[in-house]
Amino acid sequence: MVATPISDNPLITATVTTDGHGLRLCVLASGSSGNCTWVASANTAVLIDAGLSGRRIKQRLETIGGSIDALQAVCISHEHQDHIMGLRVLQRRHNVPAYANAGTAEALARYPDWADLPWNIFTTGHPFTVGDLTLKPFSVPHDAYDPVGFIVEHDGLRAGIVTDMGMATGLIREQLRNCQLIVLESNHDELLLRDCNRPWSLKQRIRGRQGHLSNQAAANLLTEIAGPTLQQILLAHLSDDCNEPDLALASAQAALEAGGHTHIRVGLTYGDRASECCCCVAPVP
Ligand SMILES: [Zn+2]
Ligand SMILES: [Zn+2]
Repeated sequence: MVATPISDNPLITATVTTDGHGLRLCVLASGSSGNCTWVASANTAVLIDAGLSGRRIKQRLETIGGSIDALQAVCISHEHQDHIMGLRVLQRRHNVPAYANAGTAEALARYPDWADLPWNIFTTGHPFTVGDLTLKPFSVPHDAYDPVGFIVEHDGLRAGIVTDMGMATGLIREQLRNCQLIVLESNHDELLLRDCNRPWSLKQRIRGRQGHLSNQAAANLLTEIAGPTLQQILLAHLSDDCNEPDLALASAQAALEAGGHTHIRVGLTYGDRASECCCCVAPVP
């Protein structure tokens, strides 16, 4: 399939395509009911998180032409249920190797069902490779044992996947610079959260420094990290009752337009279906 340039800007160094080359990414599910992102090169495919049932992961992979049997790793960002639900089925029934840092593995090992899961342990801040992908886990502030975001690199291309963070730290900004694709949390609208019918303590947890990123905070982060390399944003982990897709989109788009970054596409992710499938390829020299 022919590559489709998404901008005439000569500074743009990557092209979003739908063919099989470069670094491909699809968010199979996102939100409090389950998070799972597929990232692949032509030769290697991994999942970031497995927050759907094994059956649903299989179904959604098939909708994008992927397969559980082709997965070479499932990398867990943190131990919350919406990120691990299908992990045991992937590991035990399909023999997909599970990766996490020691904090996440230990948090899960406290439960009998998870005690015997064999882990490949990575160290936060230290890159590791799976096939021809390099994964760089970095710390994010969230109310879990040792939560991380990931940069996935292949052939000079970078995709960032970062959700479940209460605030955008300097480390997060640094990691997300110079990515072509970013999956970014845009969890809630601050007014909808204030007015929604949830216990005050839960609202405090969500808006706390180890909670979830609001639309406005995500937009502020985009203002700081957007540049000519960045091609596409997928907004993720939207709250069902404290956000609206249109509000999240408008907030991100307004921030990018105000910064003059009109080449950057902003898309959504969903709880009940896979997102669009994005692909970055290296520029022709
Ligand atoms: Zn989550
Ligand atoms: Zn979480």
